[in-house]
Amino acid sequence: MPKSLPELEAERSQILHQFTTLGDLRPGSICAVPRRCGKPRCHCAKPNDPGHDPQIRLTRKVGGKTVAESFPSPAAWRKAQSEIDEYHRLLKLSAELIAVSEKICQHRPLDSESNSWTPEEKKRLLRSMRRSPAK
Ligand SMILES: [Zn+2]
Repeated sequence: MPKSLPELEAERSQILHQFTTLGDLRPGSICAVPRRCGKPRCHCAKPNDPGHDPQIRLTRKVGGKTVAESFPSPAAWRKAQSEIDEYHRLLKLSAELIAVSEKICQHRPLDSESNSWTPEEKKRLLRSMRRSPAK
């Protein structure tokens, strides 16, 4: 059964409230990078070799490039992990907010029943379309 507008609005305020509970957050992901010592005769130079003991790294995109950071301690790793978890919570909340807002937009009745553009409205609309071309 489709939800009513007040139900959707209640859902939205619940989601908005969760935004206020977000803590420190940062984008990125933590992964294990196999270490390669660089010696050409070492087994780690062969393709598909697992390398030496993997290093735990934080990778993130900076200006389109992936940069990796290593962690000086397990505490630093745990801190980064919880910041990244929080960032994923933000992404999830944003997606939920967009989904519920879209439904609200579809349900929201029109303010007035006028069915034709006033010349002023039309001029304003055309002006705004020129400013932001469709992508
Ligand atoms: Zn090696």
